Amino acid sequence: MDKSDRPFALETVNQLRDNFRVEVRADWEAESESGWSRDELERLHRNINLMATAMGGSDRFITNLDHVTIQKDDIGSHGGEALAHKVTLSARRPATAWTIVHELAHAWDAKHGWRLSMALEKYTGGFTHRTLGWLKRWLRSGDAGVSGAEKTPGRFGRLPGCNAAGYFYARQPSGSNWNFNRKEDFAESVAMYLGWQNGNDLSAWAELRINLYLLPNGAQHERFGTDNWADYKKYFYPENGDYSQTLRWKFVDELLKQHRV
Ligand SMILES: [Zn+2]
Repeated sequence: MDKSDRPFALETVNQLRDNFRVEVRADWEAESESGWSRDELERLHRNINLMATAMGGSDRFITNLDHVTIQKDDIGSHGGEALAHKVTLSARRPATAWTIVHELAHAWDAKHGWRLSMALEKYTGGFTHRTLGWLKRWLRSGDAGVSGAEKTPGRFGRLPGCNAAGYFYARQPSGSNWNFNRKEDFAESVAMYLGWQNGNDLSAWAELRINLYLLPNGAQHERFGTDNWADYKKYFYPENGDYSQTLRWKFVDELLKQHRV
């Protein structure tokens, strides 16, 4: 971070601590890179504010997440990791708004013993059964190999149960892959809800995730690669392309209102 941006950074960090009980970890005094850019800190602030507003205010955010430490660290190829009270964002690149909200949603779920994602699974009519997932692939009725996803269109493991967790999602999530499970479903549903047609940092990505399934089979997307998109439309594309008509949107909407009481 540029030295001239340091007062701004300290001010932002203080506001996050005072208003949301979010502790941003960085060595601000060191001459070297703190790991945070001015843009990234602004994005963090803006999206915590977005989440808190949807929850009904910063007091609700504090109750729901109950103190969170956010740091940047080398965590391999993925963008973030979260436990209760702790979010780690990749030090390799600036965190996107989507990653920030997704990881904070995990921290919220974790703080509640991961019961929020269990509630989502139940609400939408899904279940988790690893052996059944394996069986589905063994019977060749899935879209992945017996031992996992394959790097070829139509074999990435997007169908219900065709993921490492054996998560048989029901109704329409905004997407699925080999790493999908109810926790990821919850975090993605929160990000989709907050972004869906709200004109914020998340909105373009939310729209993109849905419109992906309007592409023909074999089409290459610059961010999502190549897949048989049309074949997956019935699993992920909501009625009339309107995500707010999905059970997941309703679940998050009700959850936010319930936690507001
Ligand atoms: Zn996640």
